[in-house]
Amino acid sequence: MTTATAALPIAGRHLIAGHWHAPTGAHFESRNPARADEVVGLFPKGTATDAGQAVAAARAPYPGWRRSSRIHRAELFDNLAQVIKQETDNLARLMARECGKVITECRAEVVEGLHMVQYVFGTGRMPTGDIVASEIAEKDAFVRRKPWGVCAVITPWNFPFAVPLWMLGPSLLEGNTCVFKPSEDTPAIGQRLVELFLEAGFPSGVINLVHGDAEVGEALVHDAGVNVVLFTGSYEVGKRIREVSTQFADRIVATETGSKSAVIVCEDARLDLAVTCAVISAFKTSGQRCVSASRILVHEKLIDLFIDKFVSAAKRIRIGDPLESANFTGPVIHRDSVEKVLRYNALARQEGAEVLLDGGPLTSAEHAHGCYMSPFIYRMRHRPDARTIREEVFGPHVAVIPFRDNDEAARIYNDTPFGLSLAVITESYRTMRYFREECEFGMGYVNLPCIGAEVHLPFGGVKQSGNGHPSAAGLVETVTHKVAWTVNHGTEVKMAQGLTTTIEGGPG
Ligand code: NAD
Repeated sequence: MTTATAALPIAGRHLIAGHWHAPTGAHFESRNPARADEVVGLFPKGTATDAGQAVAAARAPYPGWRRSSRIHRAELFDNLAQVIKQETDNLARLMARECGKVITECRAEVVEGLHMVQYVFGTGRMPTGDIVASEIAEKDAFVRRKPWGVCAVITPWNFPFAVPLWMLGPSLLEGNTCVFKPSEDTPAIGQRLVELFLEAGFPSGVINLVHGDAEVGEALVHDAGVNVVLFTGSYEVGKRIREVSTQFADRIVATETGSKSAVIVCEDARLDLAVTCAVISAFKTSGQRCVSASRILVHEKLIDLFIDKFVSAAKRIRIGDPLESANFTGPVIHRDSVEKVLRYNALARQEGAEVLLDGGPLTSAEHAHGCYMSPFIYRMRHRPDARTIREEVFGPHVAVIPFRDNDEAARIYNDTPFGLSLAVITESYRTMRYFREECEFGMGYVNLPCIGAEVHLPFGGVKQSGNGHPSAAGLVETVTHKVAWTVNHGTEVKMAQGLTTTIEGGPG
């Protein structure tokens, strides 16, 4: 099939020590999920050798980079913001072609990445430590931050621009250097991002790029030269990275992973607001956000009315070409994803779901060449043994689950291995406060969808959703360690806790 938007495939390259490398070994294709025959680019499949060279290339400039002025480093992010602004539309189009998100979402993601860059620039002149009191009047005590060294940044396909910037931004600002490995599903947008860093004037070796899949990811994680691994992706891979990293005593590992997020529609909810929030939470990005709601918990008094409106709204969602801004959502990322969602749709049936909207692959002429899927909605009572309402599906698959009272809703919300995002739809301060205190989550919203992060807030979860190192604004805690620095401005030695300083016969 030929298309008006098809362009020549991008030639993929690693960036190591400021040089673009196009190795002759194995390559992989990045394909457009909306048009099976469109190759977005051809990329080198990174090996352990490439990973080792990239880590060494990041180590070399580290001493000079960490000694450079923090404000100078921040100003490079101001340059980066200018280049991103000029490239917003091109970046959004490339992202839409490579990962199938609709163009409006892609533009919003570029803006989110830009906001992160602006935030990093802005924090450059902000205080970075503390001055604290000492027990001894003649002592000044400081808490200062130091970078760790080399950060490996390993990212997923679904936010291929913003998520890397959530990690690369604070890491580089604080004086670390980086090796970035984008998802093998979105290497083109990853490579374009690194090109923009170079255009902004970041020095050679401070940011390096390797393409590839688990093989090169594993090699990075096994490399003793990596001080920090910043990972966002599935729980299984995050767990593997944490296990491998236990062999390195002071390795810091941040893993932001999967979820089974939910919207809770309370007895006093405004119904139309609840339906809008549920549709956006469940079906934006075809349900492929880490924070996507795959469970809508609805008070039993409202559930029949809610289902009528929710199913009717879901039927009206426009699913189609990601480059067409009128579409609400595009395809899922690839065939494997289609198969996975179909397996969970079948599992829901086996587990006794009442199917309300039977989703599956879309096969009309408009959709035939892509991985398009329509929403699957089912009603089911919560059961601890039902896998379909506990496991991450990552697609347009959502359960509507009744509850009797707020205690039961909080118990149901918490009864999955995950704890990432939560939305509560209520008019009552007391009710929303109850869920805030009783539910296990990282990002909570009231009368809003459970998606929609802003970069100046920490982004992370608990349980199998995260290990306590949120991205974006929170990342500074992970990419630096604190040192205490105590200075005596007196002429005698005085110790804390009343420790005696008398030396028999005097000091000399
Ligand atoms: P994935 O785990 O398959 O891959 C993520 C990255 O890990 C890719 O770059 C991949 O090449 C790399 N990788 C795979 N195996 C590896 C290994 N053994 N060692 C090192 N690296 C390895 O995830 P995905 O399919 O790209 O993304 C979807 C997942 O990401 C979902 O589970 C979603 O919930 C999660 N996600 C979480 C957040 C969050 O902030 N919590 C944000 C976005 C996506």
